[in-house]
Amino acid sequence: MNPENNNTSPAILDRFGRAHTALRISVTDRCNIRCFYCMPDESIRFLPSREILSFEEITSLVGILAGMGIRKLRVTGGEPLVRSQLHKLIEKLVAIPGIVDVALTTNGILLEEQAQSLRDAGLHRLNISLDTLREEVFQRITRRSGLDRVLRGIERARQVGFDKIRLNAIAMSGLTETEVIPLAEFARQQGLELRFIEFMPLDAEQAWQPVKVLSGSDIRQMIEQRFGPLEPVESADPSQPARNFAYADGGGQVGLINPVTEPFCDACNRLRLTAEGKLRNCLFSTAEWDVRSLLRSGATTTEIDELVRECVAAKKRAHGINGEAFERPAKAMYQIGG
Ligand code: SAM
Ligand code: SF4
Repeated sequence: MNPENNNTSPAILDRFGRAHTALRISVTDRCNIRCFYCMPDESIRFLPSREILSFEEITSLVGILAGMGIRKLRVTGGEPLVRSQLHKLIEKLVAIPGIVDVALTTNGILLEEQAQSLRDAGLHRLNISLDTLREEVFQRITRRSGLDRVLRGIERARQVGFDKIRLNAIAMSGLTETEVIPLAEFARQQGLELRFIEFMPLDAEQAWQPVKVLSGSDIRQMIEQRFGPLEPVESADPSQPARNFAYADGGGQVGLINPVTEPFCDACNRLRLTAEGKLRNCLFSTAEWDVRSLLRSGATTTEIDELVRECVAAKKRAHGINGEAFERPAKAMYQIGG
């Protein structure tokens, strides 16, 4: 065992030499809202609960993956806070030797109620999705109401002591242009980091088109027109997908995540686990590796290790969204885990 990194086996390397150190864990495909760029509004067939990995199964898999070099976890969904007692999973994950960072991505609707228990469980970081500050736009996007709850959730998260809160906003043309400046102003006032994520072809309704992507460079221009020149900030972590910029007046930072116009696959270090226990090597992967069957049939650590390496060995160099041969995955974002 290498005493430095706690590994019991070699790093998880793909064919292009990328070491995989981060895992996104989806804990449910369910959600309490219906963002049109992610979920269908009706006729959704959610996974039955017996098909969803238990907290014990997730924890034992992460224990094995930590031994292979996984260090950072992000818990997501669907909406992770609709999974009952989520704080208990967080508590187990932060205690796994080798895991140094556990983050959560949430729509914030249930955060006011759960922020304290998540904080007590040892959650390190929170990302909260916030596309607008106007209730009517919130309802148009989510087909539900509840912006006030999200805003109270953000407030509560700050009160209970989360200091690394990020706000994530979708970047979609025809929708986001009017929201950019209000969101930037809100984030600056609150001392939070705001990041815009380009709309990706992962919407269940399959309405994505290249023209519907509001590019990071367009957003940068809008922000610069209002707040003056943005200064690029070098990230210490090359696998970090956001390009960060500092406001010239010291008003914090804004991040642009540009998977469509500036893919960042070269530095990808991520693996994904779906709620039903399928391992994926990319958001856009069209293949999955069934780790749940192994976990439920009493497979050995070596067998799970082999499956993980097989999954990573099959990883493509890049997602290829902009290429002729791009094939959309059958699953939408809420079924994969964003
Ligand atoms: N329900 C939680 C939430 O919304 O934060 C976690 C899961 S959600 C799938 C994670 C992130 O994916 C959200 O910030 C959401 O805006 C983003 N997302 C969903 N569909 C997307 C799409 N088609 N393109 C880009 N981002 C998307
Ligand atoms: Fe739910 Fe998140 Fe998808 Fe919106 S983006 S529908 S909050 S899973």
